Amino acid sequence: MRQQHSFLPTLRDVPADAEVISHQLMLRAGLMRQIASGLYSYLPLGQKVIRKVQEIVRDEMNKTGSEEVLLSTLHPAELWHETGRWDVYGPELMRLKDRHERAFALGPTHEEVITSLVRDEIKSYKKLPLSMYQIQTKFRDERRPRFGVLRSREFIMKDAYSFHATDESLDEMYQKMYSAYMNIFTRCGLNFRAVEADSGAIGGTDTHEFMVLSEIGEDTIAFSNSSSYAANIEKAEVTQTSYEQLVVDGDKEKQVVDTPNVRTVEELAAFLAVEPNQIIKSVAFEVDSEIVVALVRGDFEINETKVKVLLGGQTIELLSPESVVQDLKSVPGFVGPVGPVGLQVKIVADNSVKGMAGAVVGANEKDKHIQYVSPERDFTVEGYYDLRNIVEGDPSPDGQGIIQFAEGIEVGHVFKLGTKYSEAMGAIFLDENGKDKPMIMGCYGIGVTRILAAVIEQNHDEKGIVWPVSLAPYDIHLITVNPKDEQQQELGEKLYQELRNQRFDVLYDDRKERPGVKFNDSDLMGLPVRITVGKKAQEGIIEVKARKSGDMEEIHVNELEAYLQ
Ligand code: ATP
Ligand code: MG
Ligand code: MG
Ligand code: MG
Repeated sequence: MRQQHSFLPTLRDVPADAEVISHQLMLRAGLMRQIASGLYSYLPLGQKVIRKVQEIVRDEMNKTGSEEVLLSTLHPAELWHETGRWDVYGPELMRLKDRHERAFALGPTHEEVITSLVRDEIKSYKKLPLSMYQIQTKFRDERRPRFGVLRSREFIMKDAYSFHATDESLDEMYQKMYSAYMNIFTRCGLNFRAVEADSGAIGGTDTHEFMVLSEIGEDTIAFSNSSSYAANIEKAEVTQTSYEQLVVDGDKEKQVVDTPNVRTVEELAAFLAVEPNQIIKSVAFEVDSEIVVALVRGDFEINETKVKVLLGGQTIELLSPESVVQDLKSVPGFVGPVGPVGLQVKIVADNSVKGMAGAVVGANEKDKHIQYVSPERDFTVEGYYDLRNIVEGDPSPDGQGIIQFAEGIEVGHVFKLGTKYSEAMGAIFLDENGKDKPMIMGCYGIGVTRILAAVIEQNHDEKGIVWPVSLAPYDIHLITVNPKDEQQQELGEKLYQELRNQRFDVLYDDRKERPGVKFNDSDLMGLPVRITVGKKAQEGIIEVKARKSGDMEEIHVNELEAYLQ
């Protein structure tokens, strides 16, 4: 591509409202422009990188045997009513009406759409397992769009869904997807970790997130270099809680202290024999027949009333239940599951984990039992609280290493969904014995556009982006220092032709700009190899420079082919 006629607007200055380096560089290098808060247009250079990421993702998805589809972006509200998520997804769901006043949503994720598709077509175990993926624009009206495409309101996601007749089959697919994710992020040149994640409100079983290590990451992960243990601390803390103390409804064998009168923070404090101000508020949300917990320090104000708070008798708005903890992080005073002290109790009914409830008390209160009785529900929750959170320097739960913390950017997420969606939507198949069963599902997401930013966070220097070869928008940046010089111009053109004949993707800076401008732009864009045709063109001498190492040398054009090997 000739730069003279390429739409490649670079910026010398750092854009005022871009807080993080990847956001700054994506604007400065001309990869994208903002159109409104959390909405971006990708320019030619940005689109080329997106295509490269997509090709890596496609390649690895196809290898798992998943088939590519493209599902509708606009979702009729009826589908979301079937799973109840129309009501519980919260304000993150972008809603709109058509000319007939029918309600729709712009898809933030596609469980409903794909489940409806599969339930209508697949009736027998013989067609299972089945796995499909798409690469498509998603919409989420994020509370705080920020950091450019790291948290935008419109973004490209790869989402895959699988359908199974047995748990073993799901396990196998999950493992395949997990490996594919490892390959994808490695091929993208990312330094990342797969971590155990918290299944939270969705209430599945296994789930892992893929975290790119970065200071600006919004998640904290606990891991150990000398063991394979790694977890999102939202999950790491739960792991620390003593579940063996849990009492399932009906199991009267274990000794528990009943607290039927605890309905307020004051009553909780009295029960625990602590000062009320030692209590960090405990809020249990009932979400889609499951319970999630939020731990909030001090007062907070949320408008609209949708969900009843079980403890304290207050009513507060249900935040996006899919990510209630995430959302609450932006509520002033929220300490989340990462508080200084804490209790977390898994809610168990029918022998399966239905969610979590919790309470937090002041420091140094140990060995307390507490019971929650839900007046809405026919089970009680009893648990034991462990005041200790996982901290740096702890032995890892597998005993193999020492815990350290790091911040991470979530670029991918794999999830065993179980039968939540198939049961709600009637995705039923006939098993080998002719018996009706709900399909067992998994879902697997990757933030394609978020990857661009994550890659730049990890691959840049003070001059600009340093693209990994696998994602670079062009292979080579060819620069003619002075296009008005006939010899330089001639050699530049010749190399441009030859390199393209050799199948290199070349960006050719043929602009009549000052050399300083050209070199600065080149460093900013960060293509792996720069070839400069300058004063020595006459003798066939050119300068080659590797962007990553900065190594620069003069070579004869005849040596170029060998250099590029
Ligand atoms: P987050 O915790 O960052 O809000 P999420 O857990 O809500 O992400 P998922 O529902 O797991 O996201 O979606 C799959 C992937 O989509 C995520 O792992 C992430 O890479 C990407 N993603 C999610 N939200 C956004 C967003 N607002 N902007 C860009 N990418 C996103
Ligand atoms: Mg989210
Ligand atoms: Mg997340
Ligand atoms: Mg996620």
